[in-house]
Amino acid sequence: MSNIIKDIKRTILVVEDEIINQEILKEVLSVEYDVEIANNGIEGIQKLTTSIKPISLIILDINMPMMNGIEFLKRLNEKNIKRIPIIVITSETETELECLELGAIDFIKRPFELPQVMLARVARLIELFEDRLIIHASERDELTQVYNKNVFIEYVKMIEEYNPNDKMDLNVLLVENLHIIHELYGQDKADEVMKYIADELKKNVKAYGGIVGKLEDEYFLVFHKHVDNYDELVKHFEISLEKYGVSGINFKLGVYEIDDKKVSIDVRINRAKLTCNQVGKFGHNKHLAFTDISQNNSLLYEQLAYDFHNSLQNKEFVIYYQPKYNIENEPYISSAEALVRWIHPSRGMVSPKIFIPLFEERGFIRELDHYVWEEAIKHLAYLKENNMDIVPVSLNVSRIDLLDDSIVDILESFTKKYHVDNKYVYLEITESAYNSDSNHLVKIITTLKEKGFKIEIDDFGAGYSSLNALATIPFDVLKLDMLFVKEMYSNDKTLKIIELVSDIAKYLDVVLVAEGVETVEQLNQLKKFGYSVIQGYYFSKPLSKEDFMKLLGENKC
Ligand code: C2E
Ligand code: CA
Ligand code: CA
Repeated sequence: MSNIIKDIKRTILVVEDEIINQEILKEVLSVEYDVEIANNGIEGIQKLTTSIKPISLIILDINMPMMNGIEFLKRLNEKNIKRIPIIVITSETETELECLELGAIDFIKRPFELPQVMLARVARLIELFEDRLIIHASERDELTQVYNKNVFIEYVKMIEEYNPNDKMDLNVLLVENLHIIHELYGQDKADEVMKYIADELKKNVKAYGGIVGKLEDEYFLVFHKHVDNYDELVKHFEISLEKYGVSGINFKLGVYEIDDKKVSIDVRINRAKLTCNQVGKFGHNKHLAFTDISQNNSLLYEQLAYDFHNSLQNKEFVIYYQPKYNIENEPYISSAEALVRWIHPSRGMVSPKIFIPLFEERGFIRELDHYVWEEAIKHLAYLKENNMDIVPVSLNVSRIDLLDDSIVDILESFTKKYHVDNKYVYLEITESAYNSDSNHLVKIITTLKEKGFKIEIDDFGAGYSSLNALATIPFDVLKLDMLFVKEMYSNDKTLKIIELVSDIAKYLDVVLVAEGVETVEQLNQLKKFGYSVIQGYYFSKPLSKEDFMKLLGENKC
């Protein structure tokens, strides 16, 4: 045999009821193999499932009592028993097709051929089969059994050659937090998670006509027909992970959806991986498409930065208001947060999560914030003039705004200009601001507070400076970071922290706000903990000025 594993003596199972045939086959085969005999199909199945030594080949008769050869083949298929090459002994050609369909790979006819011919045939079949197993194994990642990178690339090429007109996506999926699973539960559990994810991926991807491969570490490769909207696919995958029940495990998906066959598969993989690594930097999404950011990442930023001043002049920045509800009794709108939106002429609505960090970096944020503040304060004046209920508005203050002493004068100039009492203006200062020069910061915030503005600590708990900030900054409102609400039920600790923050707020006698509240369960739990103000989709998304006014009109405070 030319097979790499030559020296072991393999076992052949003969399933045949006629003693004479049993004897002949035994005689011929035992020169090179161990031979096991079964008198019918039932015995055959038993031998297969109980044999200590692996069976390398089966020689099967068709006509047998108890369970015939065809039944035996069917049973093997049903039972999903590991594939073993099967040679069928036959004298009639009509059953041959059925046998082939049921998995037989060759036939021998009676009377039996010369012993050397039979031995050569058997050896050849075992060799072919074992080679195939070895190829199968070397094609795959040992742990997860998905294709390794090189084989994946070859298959991608092949699929593209055969289907040149199909639009395909090449994606990279990263399994996050695997190291935590590893630390908490050990290597075996981490391996199990990877296997589970690989299997789920295969199942998911099958529906889209695709293949799965392994890149390095915790990265998987996926190639399938183009998907316009990944929300559903991602949701589906999220649910299957939830079902598995390992908390903390998460994933990110980078989608390379550009159908340009000239771009090498290697480059496409790199771009998908790059995109995958960007997921989360632009919000809480689980997936991101290459065209959305990566390829034009710097280009997009350059364009946005280039457009800024024009856009500001053209009033493309508009203010949305998200109401905050007091829930101590019957819920009512007690204030609102001003959130800026960019209605870009060619890009549509651009999220502040993209342009705020950019403007902070490029030094435009002060100009933008001053514009937002003035617009929001002007709107308060408008409400007052029109005898509408006026509720305080919270303005976001970037940490860069706070480096500048003139912030106090600027804010006051707006409230004076529009005759709005400072007490209607809340300033949301994100907790991470306290990392920078705190003495200076404390001085400015103290002055702002003295002037009657209300100080609100935003995203509390998200940074590392939380407790430090509480001790040194004078403030009126504490706003819990929305991640705590989102992950409220993911573990007991989160719930404890939410409760603890409520105790802190009570102790300091400040108003406590929770944002990102989307469900009635979250609302009830927070209410139980003593959170008095709630902001989130449960009550309302951020609204345009007009819609917000409409809602205010219905407000019963
Ligand atoms: P933030 O200050 O933490 O604002 C809350 C964000 O959460 C808003 O996102 C809001 O739309 C979103 N949100 C509200 N309720 C829910 C909810 O129930 N579920 C979920 N998933 N999200 C909810 P948005 O408007 O995209 O703003 C993102 C961030 O951009 C803000 O986070 C804030 O840091 C910044 N930002 C927005 N407007 C301004 C501004 O005028 N100036 C400055 N400096 N930053 C701003
Ligand atoms: Ca805020
Ligand atoms: Ca916030």
